[in-house]
Amino acid sequence: MVNYFQLIFQLKIGVKNHMEKLKIGVLGATGIVGQNYLQLLQGHPWFDIIDVAASPRSAGKTYEKAAGPKWQMPIPIPESLKDLKVRDVQDYDAIPEDVSFVFSAINMPTKDMIKEVEFEYARKGIPVISNNSAHRWTSDVPMIIGEINSHHSDVIPIQQKNRGFLKGFVAVKPNCSLQSYLTAIYALEKANYKVDKLIITTLQAVSGAGYPGVASLDMVDNIIPYVGGEEEKTEKEPLKIFGKVGEKGIINDDSIQISSTCTRVAVRDGHTASVNMKFKDRIPNREEIINIWKTFKALPQELGLPFAPKQPIIYLEDEDRPQPIKDRNNDKGMALTVGRLREDNVFDYKFVSLSHNTIRGAAGGAILMAEMLKTKGYLK
Ligand code: NAP
Repeated sequence: MVNYFQLIFQLKIGVKNHMEKLKIGVLGATGIVGQNYLQLLQGHPWFDIIDVAASPRSAGKTYEKAAGPKWQMPIPIPESLKDLKVRDVQDYDAIPEDVSFVFSAINMPTKDMIKEVEFEYARKGIPVISNNSAHRWTSDVPMIIGEINSHHSDVIPIQQKNRGFLKGFVAVKPNCSLQSYLTAIYALEKANYKVDKLIITTLQAVSGAGYPGVASLDMVDNIIPYVGGEEEKTEKEPLKIFGKVGEKGIINDDSIQISSTCTRVAVRDGHTASVNMKFKDRIPNREEIINIWKTFKALPQELGLPFAPKQPIIYLEDEDRPQPIKDRNNDKGMALTVGRLREDNVFDYKFVSLSHNTIRGAAGGAILMAEMLKTKGYLK
């Protein structure tokens, strides 16, 4: 049996051995999340994009022609990718032979279509790291936040056995808005302050709806008090993330009760959440909570993974923080920024938390997961 310290040592050796870059593909490369992959992976030490795929509408065009009119990143389309020909996501015969794995950020008319596409890549021996919600409730598919449940990668061999996949598998990231507060809750749980109940109100950015997203006349000067499917995701996904690996898949945890309201606000990037929390028995004091958050570190930090934020939870004492335009890019957009921790008249405490939805909540979070899976030997 390998203990925690032996695992860290073996993984660190693994990190040092990453000499050759893995060639990878991006499914949904022309969309908002896909564009983030192209931006964030520029100069990545381990991964090189050689394949871009999207809908039949884009297939056969150069990336510049297909994505240029809707390019939203703060840098121009990278020169090395402009002339890549976009492949139809379902043109499996055209997948370059040397693709090691793909990031998936596709939107399709139904979740069943996405499930089938992602499993087809896995059947063909290509691991899929996905942003889509389609497989989040498939029990043998891990749903990972690097700092919380990296160990859920242990379900990958179970998935491969259950489904007859030889080298491929599907691993997913949770909903983008969860990333803005769940690590803060997990840090307290890990310090043995068990959380009993959460009431969460999200204020989600426009880029979370993809491109072109919500019509500007619906969004400017407005708040939309409904984001389809998000409240169910907010209330259910933490149960799987906090679950444990069983013989057939992940067994959900049901120790925390969550109630949520999800809204869309006229902010370009950065999901904010207002969180009220009640503890089960032991209640930490304010200083303890802030200290737990400020000192929290997990496997991605121990391994020094390229996309790991140095300090995953940043606490700001200023009364008017966090704010999307000031705090969403903290530590390359990978940190979550928390503030306004105060006592609550009904529950025990309340706070406000923020993270970048298309970086930490989408492409960046998935890149961090891929780095962790590579270090553990699942991506070769
Ligand atoms: P988006 O901007 O609408 O992009 C959608 C992508 O899917 C485009 O590349 C599009 O290609 C492709 N696509 C559409 N129909 C297709 C089809 N029938 N077959 C194959 N490809 C098709 O959406 P997004 O915001 O990037 O989101 C992508 C996924 O990530 C969604 O599942 C979303 O829920 C999830 N997600 C998004 C965020 C966020 O903050 N935006 C965060 C977490 C997760 P064309 O350009 O050719 O149409």
